[in-house]
Amino acid sequence: MIEAARDDEVVFRGGTILTIDPQHRVLAGDVACAGGAIVQVGGDYTPKARDYTVVDCAGCIVMPGLVQAHVHTCQTLARGRADDMELLDWLRTVVWPYEAALDEAALTAAVELACAELLLGGTTAILDMATVHHTDAVFAAAERSGIRATIGKAMMDAPDPQIPPGLREATRASLDASARLIDRWHGAAAGRLRYAYAPRFVPSCTDELLREVGVEARARGVRIHTHASENLGEIALVRARFGKDNIAVLDELGLLGDHTCIAHCIHLSADERRLLAARGAHVCHCPSSNLKLASGICQVPELVAAGISVALGADGAPCNNNLDGFHELRLAALLHKPRSGPRALPAPEVVKMATLGGAAALGLADQIGSLEVGKRGDVIAIDITTLHTIPTASPWSAIAYAARSCDIRHVAVDGTVVVRDGALHTLEVPRVRERARTQAARLFR
Ligand SMILES: [Zn+2]
Repeated sequence: MIEAARDDEVVFRGGTILTIDPQHRVLAGDVACAGGAIVQVGGDYTPKARDYTVVDCAGCIVMPGLVQAHVHTCQTLARGRADDMELLDWLRTVVWPYEAALDEAALTAAVELACAELLLGGTTAILDMATVHHTDAVFAAAERSGIRATIGKAMMDAPDPQIPPGLREATRASLDASARLIDRWHGAAAGRLRYAYAPRFVPSCTDELLREVGVEARARGVRIHTHASENLGEIALVRARFGKDNIAVLDELGLLGDHTCIAHCIHLSADERRLLAARGAHVCHCPSSNLKLASGICQVPELVAAGISVALGADGAPCNNNLDGFHELRLAALLHKPRSGPRALPAPEVVKMATLGGAAALGLADQIGSLEVGKRGDVIAIDITTLHTIPTASPWSAIAYAARSCDIRHVAVDGTVVVRDGALHTLEVPRVRERARTQAARLFR
């Protein structure tokens, strides 16, 4: 395996620094990390240790790594296998049978492929919903890749004949498996790996499971990651079962709080928005996925106006079909303007969503999401000398509207350089590519 740079001090030298700090400062000079933490932002840094790494950031914007608060790294081998479908069909005919067929070898290939794509594209932290089984393999692959990941096994205990037998689980078994994973992985890799309970969505879970997740998550101090109000068919299932909508159901069962991140939230009433805001729950907006599955357009300006913290995510490869944080950022900035006007989600606001908003959704806003002394060294440098980014009138504009994930030059997570000069140092990309192709061919044979 190629070794990531593990020098005690890393200096990102000579870029334009987009801090995303409370003053929205843009600075010049160095960003320095020591022992994994940021020790200086701006100005010239003189290394203190004998062994240190300097990465050249001339011509780059240096900023906090993107945080994607809703992805499914386990689904990556199904890229291109489920195009042009709506959510419930997409789940029942392709994604659930695919997930049921995943074994450890296939999952490892899927997660390595996802993490390589994410890191090379400037995403340093994720909230990841795995599948029902083999979640240890997901954690192990994420650990090797060097990404910061909060992962949870998908929970699916509803007596629904549409759920393949390979995924359907007993309530107690689902809770016990989650508890074992928390013991093993929550806080592992020096805190880089964390656990989140991941009841897939209300229709795939019993009331008992959902209620128990609400209790256990609070007791154990871990987060909850779920989907809600993505699709009108899904909402009809919830209404038929409870006589009310998703957000009210999640609240009644004790799942809503500032430790909760809900993907999509497209079809919400004003009452549901007020409830989310009152509970401090986070919403993850996934614009590509919502468009491709024809789910609808999340009313993000209304969520923001209601005081809800919004993050961004690519969702999974079969509904996107990339895990490109910059693509989601640009789409989020554009998508709401025809309805809400050109000033809806201006560049700084959407860049903040993609960084600090994601950090808040992961419960890590005090550790990542901005470049400030004392935070962890999750830092990216993106080349803005490309023809499609010059001339650069404003770094906010460059990041929101012009830059692409392929412009990423360097990436560090927790002060360790994992991508340098566009090359991944933690996983061997030719091997990741080969394994992904082989495993996908085997699964879809
Ligand atoms: Zn999802």
